[in-house]
Amino acid sequence: MSLEIKNEAPNESTGNFIRTFIDEDLLNGRYPGTVTRFPPEPNGYLHIGHAKSICLNFGLAVIYNGACNLRFDDTNPVREDVEYIDSIKKDVSWLGFTWTGSVRYASDYFEQIYTCTKKLIQKGLAYVDDLSQEEVRNYRGTLTKPGQNSPWRNRTAEENLFLFRRMRAGEFPDGSRSLRAKIDMTSPNINLRDPTLYRIRKAIHHRTGDEWPIYPMYDYTHCISDAIEGITHSICTLEFEDHRSLYDWVLEALDWPPPRPRQIEFARLNLEYTIMSKRKLLQLVKDKYVEGWDDPRLPTIAAFRRRGFTPESIRLFCDRIGIAKRDSWIEYYWLEKAIRDDLNSKAPRVMAVLNPLKAVIENWPKDQTKEFQAPYFPDDPNRTSIRPLIFEREIYIEAEDFMLDPPKKFYRLGPGREVHLRWGFYIHCHEAVRNEDGTISKLRCTYSEEPRGFGAGPGGQPAIIHWVPAKNSIPARVRLYDRLFKVPRPKGNLDKEINPNSLREYSEARLEPALRKAGPGERWQFERLGYFITDEKLHTSQNPTFNRIVTLKDKR
Ligand code: ATP
Ligand code: MG
Repeated sequence: MSLEIKNEAPNESTGNFIRTFIDEDLLNGRYPGTVTRFPPEPNGYLHIGHAKSICLNFGLAVIYNGACNLRFDDTNPVREDVEYIDSIKKDVSWLGFTWTGSVRYASDYFEQIYTCTKKLIQKGLAYVDDLSQEEVRNYRGTLTKPGQNSPWRNRTAEENLFLFRRMRAGEFPDGSRSLRAKIDMTSPNINLRDPTLYRIRKAIHHRTGDEWPIYPMYDYTHCISDAIEGITHSICTLEFEDHRSLYDWVLEALDWPPPRPRQIEFARLNLEYTIMSKRKLLQLVKDKYVEGWDDPRLPTIAAFRRRGFTPESIRLFCDRIGIAKRDSWIEYYWLEKAIRDDLNSKAPRVMAVLNPLKAVIENWPKDQTKEFQAPYFPDDPNRTSIRPLIFEREIYIEAEDFMLDPPKKFYRLGPGREVHLRWGFYIHCHEAVRNEDGTISKLRCTYSEEPRGFGAGPGGQPAIIHWVPAKNSIPARVRLYDRLFKVPRPKGNLDKEINPNSLREYSEARLEPALRKAGPGERWQFERLGYFITDEKLHTSQNPTFNRIVTLKDKR
């Protein structure tokens, strides 16, 4: 993973505090090496927050020459799906990371976790509770009020084992019983008030089918899975800080031989003008606010890929924002800056007109064309590749580059004014021909090889504008994206907060002929307009469709 661009973003941490922990552990000989994991629940597509966790966990494995596992935390069969598993594997690989060994699943450990649990019961550290879910909640107490012991808390180990085996055999209906750890109902940490370890749920699991009528809870599964895999540093987001004592309690209660994994928390990424909750993302997709999980306006990895972001740019972004211990919001600007910085040297320059206005060059012969040679990389003297640009009697310019009655600050075209066509001649506008409704149908112009002093810039300087030939250009559809939310820190109230104008489509755009060959995954800079890519779903040679990846200007 190489990151050439200097760190200049609001990196909150002074260095990476997680590396300090790992360095300490290595120095003390606590672990023989460094093993991390990325543990998604397959209940949605990965988003940019996950990318941060992926870059961190896989990045540490690279730095310490260790290992990083990909493990699906698949303990909730009702919400999980194979579609999500496939997309997650694809996204991790696309980001440029390779997991160690084969993909792992918490469900691979169901038998082993079940065996561990019988040991806990035998030790008197877990019991079968007959309280309903609601009663368990009522007995739990609050932050200010201690909890109450369940009346079933003092069952003998024999009775608990007997009942637990019957739970596993599927003898009881969903929710009628649960298995709980026996810790302390008065603990100030609510996570330690006899947390549920297993619940009865007769659901078909995407991997284990109907083999299990009971499923271990996330907190319980996670620490055992980490321990089984020999994870050394189990890195998670801050909301798990209060769960760490349960994590440690379970491994201690099971007499897990050291070295046991160490849980370390960091701040989750919040990105302005978007949301990261998988539940909300699912709602955006299901309620058709967007066109699917890979809609380029979403913050999912699949969406960023389709939008044209590069894996390098996402890694660069994650590296620049750094790892912090305190929650914060990151400006969208930093994501856009990373993609601009990455594409600036990679993307060839070409021209396209989104909203065409015809200019007829009346002193140019009807059936004559001229080829100009234009460089793909005008700013890089070492790259000399060029493409021909065809000039002809009728050309298109951007409608926004013309004004009938231009104000002072508008230096581009107007009646009586002159502009410079990028890589071509100068044109002078004599008249705007209007339709009956007052709109402009075409401009009557003449060309010259040298400026004639009618430019509107300082000292009669003509502005430079982009253009394409009328006959020799390619019709195309171009989609521009804006922020999905109107407010910088959305709370998830979609109807109020969603930006109704996040997608703008230009269906009559025209592209210069060089773009006829634009293939999938190729990124281009359309001069003055931004960076673009062919849309992986909609683009065909018959119906060219481009997405704008990002504009050219760094705007905050
Ligand atoms: P959500 O709350 O949106 O459902 P999650 O945390 O439940 O997300 P998981 O699939 O459990 O999603 O996440 C896998 C890993 O990614 C976890 O280790 C989690 O800590 C990390 N992660 C999730 N969201 C973020 C985020 N916004 N920033 C950094 N890491 C994240
Ligand atoms: Mg989670």
